[in-house]
Amino acid sequence: MFTETNIALDCPYCSETIYETLSWFKKAYSTCPNCDQGLADSQFATVISELEQSMEESIEEMIHGQSGSGCCGKKSSCGEGGCS
Ligand SMILES: [Zn+2]
Repeated sequence: MFTETNIALDCPYCSETIYETLSWFKKAYSTCPNCDQGLADSQFATVISELEQSMEESIEEMIHGQSGSGCCGKKSSCGEGGCS
């Protein structure tokens, strides 16, 4: 579902930013476009799982509205009446 999302991560070898799709970083083996060092998916696994987690949360917010005190999330005063 998020496979075509582009993300930017730093190469662990040359520290250059690699801007590729999420699926590119999840390949078992890939090569840094900047320094040609081999990159394993495990090198990005932690940061990718964090990214996916935050993406899921932002999508939840889009679907359900912002989590806040207001019933519609648009203003804090809503919920005291006709906002449905
Ligand atoms: Zn590199």
